[in-house]
Formats: sequence, structure tokens, C-alpha cells
Amino acid sequence: MSTETRYQRLALSLQDECKQAGRNPEEVTLLAVSKTVDIDEVACAISAGARAFGENRPDELVRKQAAFPEVEWHFIGNIQSRRIPDIVKSATLIHSVAKEEHLEKINRAAQECNKVQQVLIEVNVSGEQSKSGFEPADVWPLICRNAALPCVDIVGLMTMAPQGDIEAIQETFAGLAALQNELQEKAREQALDVAIRELSMGMTEDWPYAIPYGATIIRVGRAIFDEAFE
Ligand SMILES: *Cc1c(COP(=O)(O)O)cnc(C)c1O
Repeated sequence: MSTETRYQRLALSLQDECKQAGRNPEEVTLLAVSKTVDIDEVACAISAGARAFGENRPDELVRKQAAFPEVEWHFIGNIQSRRIPDIVKSATLIHSVAKEEHLEKINRAAQECNKVQQVLIEVNVSGEQSKSGFEPADVWPLICRNAALPCVDIVGLMTMAPQGDIEAIQETFAGLAALQNELQEKAREQALDVAIRELSMGMTEDWPYAIPYGATIIRVGRAIFDEAFE
């Protein structure tokens, strides 16, 4: 099976899951995570209809964005301060802000490129020690402080579910959706001009569980690019 076929098959499954959940498939971006493949495979996915790609290394983000500037490039990896200028130069959306100090550095880098950088806040919903991300209770104060930074726009939340246990996966996705609701309500009450509209959740193993809970971006790598996925 080719990358084209795997991408198209996944796009159809996504449409099915959206219908079953009573959602409009156009609300959900299928982010093709191309971190394990080269330019040729990216080209295959584009010819199959892919319009947004995810990378977790700054060098690969910069290289692939330069090769295919007509599609969106999202950064989904661990952020190192010194690489923030490269990430900001190339990323439409940064999914993985997990430290407050990075917001200020992103703001500065974005100011230099004359852009407003859209970001998601990574949230450790499951509370696992091994996972990065903010605790849910820390996100609202962070959003309030970020309002002072003119070139960073927090547009949503990202999380990773624990592996394996379906109940724990569903609890994690439900938890991120509940936090989104809570934040939207607080923003309304306090008339703060922020729109927490994106929920980035779901990967190859668990994305179908994320759709009923309101995922607006699923990040899928292996189901598109791994030949073992038939
Ligand atoms: C690699 C990666 C993905 C994609 O994982 P697959 O299991 O290949 O679908 C999604 N999100 C993040 C943050 C990743 O690093």
C-alpha cells in the first residue's frame, strides 16, 4: 500500500468518525506527522490531499517548509530556547509550549519576523510524571499573563494520552475538552479577548477516541507513513 492510499484511507475514516460523532469533518485538521520520512514521502502525501504537516525537530521543520511552502508546517516537538527563532520562522502553529519562559522568547522571535505566532499550550491532563505540559489549573493564569505579549496568540490546547488503556485515553481527551470549556467561560466572564478554539489531540493509536470529545487537530504519523500499517 502506498503513502497516497494510506493517507486517503485515513481521511475517509476521519470523515466516518466525524459523521458518527455528529461533527462536520471540515472542523478537523488531519496533521500529517512527517518526522520519520523524507521530502519524497511528503510530496506523496500532498498529492493525496494533505495540507498540514507536523515536525518535532527544528532543522527538519525549516528544511521541509522551505521545500513545500504551499502547505502548513506545525511544530509538535520539545522546544529548546535557542531554536525558537528557527521554529517561529517556519511554523504556522506551535503545538508544544510547555514552559512559560518560552512564550516570551516566541514573542521576541515573532516580533523580529513581523508575525503573530499562534501557539497551543501543552497540558498534562493525565498527570503522568513522564509527560511534559502544564497542569490544567495553571493554564488560565498563563493565558492572562500572555495577554501582555503582542506577538503570541494562544489559540488552543494540546495533549498526549497515556498509551494503551482506553478508559484512561478517553478520560484524558474529556479532561482537555472540559478545560477548554472552563477557559472559554472565564474569558467570556472577564471579557478577555482570547479564543481557545483548537484542541490538538489524538495520534495513530487513539485518534478515533478524540473526535467525539471535540478534537480540531489530530496528529497522525505512522498510519500515513509507516509501510507496516496496512
Ligand atoms: C510522533 C508524534 C505524533 C504522531 O504519532 P504516530 O503514533 O506516529 O501517529 C503525534 N504527536 C506528537 C507530539 C508526536 O511526537
